[in-house]
Amino acid sequence: MRPPQSKLPRLSPSRINTFISCPMKYRFQYIDSVPTLPNGAMVRGSFVHRVLELLLARPAQDRTLDAVRKDFETAEGEFRLRDDFRLLALDTTDEAAFWESCRECMRAYYRIEQPETADIVELEKWVSAPLGEFEIGGFIDRLERDDGGLVVSDYKTGTPKPLRFSTDYLRQLTYYALMCETQLNETPHSVRIYYLGGGKDDHSRDERVVTQTVTLDALADVRETARRVFGEIEAGKTSGEFATNVTKLCGWCDYQQWCPAHGGDPTKAPIEGTARVELRRREVGLPTAS
Ligand code: SF4
Repeated sequence: MRPPQSKLPRLSPSRINTFISCPMKYRFQYIDSVPTLPNGAMVRGSFVHRVLELLLARPAQDRTLDAVRKDFETAEGEFRLRDDFRLLALDTTDEAAFWESCRECMRAYYRIEQPETADIVELEKWVSAPLGEFEIGGFIDRLERDDGGLVVSDYKTGTPKPLRFSTDYLRQLTYYALMCETQLNETPHSVRIYYLGGGKDDHSRDERVVTQTVTLDALADVRETARRVFGEIEAGKTSGEFATNVTKLCGWCDYQQWCPAHGGDPTKAPIEGTARVELRRREVGLPTAS
């Protein structure tokens, strides 16, 4: 699904989050558009989102076990043709482990929710909100209703994290609550994460479903943060300067080899990143630009 056109420059919650986590990473990803290879966790996340989208798009009474098996098969057929799945270049053993990890996430889902009881308002809903000279916009994975009203929800296929370690995710969802307020004239009362990872460990429902109330202060905070980040990105584009933020997360950064904080040369990233992805595309039989 493509976002609609906009006359205003647009920031998504994930872009804002990337800039806050590291401005240099933002530059690699969104300004230099350095291509990267997908990883299994990322593709598994997309896959599980797709199965749940197919399942929950059905009328409540049709969300049966037979239906979810069919939806899993449909999504599997789609993903086997997708570039991101093919670029994982999984051998037979790793591919079997990949599908099993997806099934494990679905089992975790069933331990915390019976799909026929989910009160879904919309799935993959586009929302946006103008904030002066720019807008924020993005797709909400799942907009649901509970006894208190609207809730903006998302799934994470990682291991459950307690509320205090989920703040980045919840903050991203609060941007969507702000967009709902503008676009739907209804402010979600909460944001919610469904954690579906963690293997076979028996996490309780309270560990897997993390909910935070949306307050007026939280909405004002994300509004101001979006404005500040937009200003800093524009300033960085003009000056060419993007700060690095070295943390232990650098070990998982796709751009570390070109990062100046780690002795790399950022100007080499677009060419070398493209060459690395093109090589993998050739190896797995996908068309290449060259
Ligand atoms: S390696 Fe660390 S400092 Fe460098 S771009 Fe990535 S996250 Fe930022």
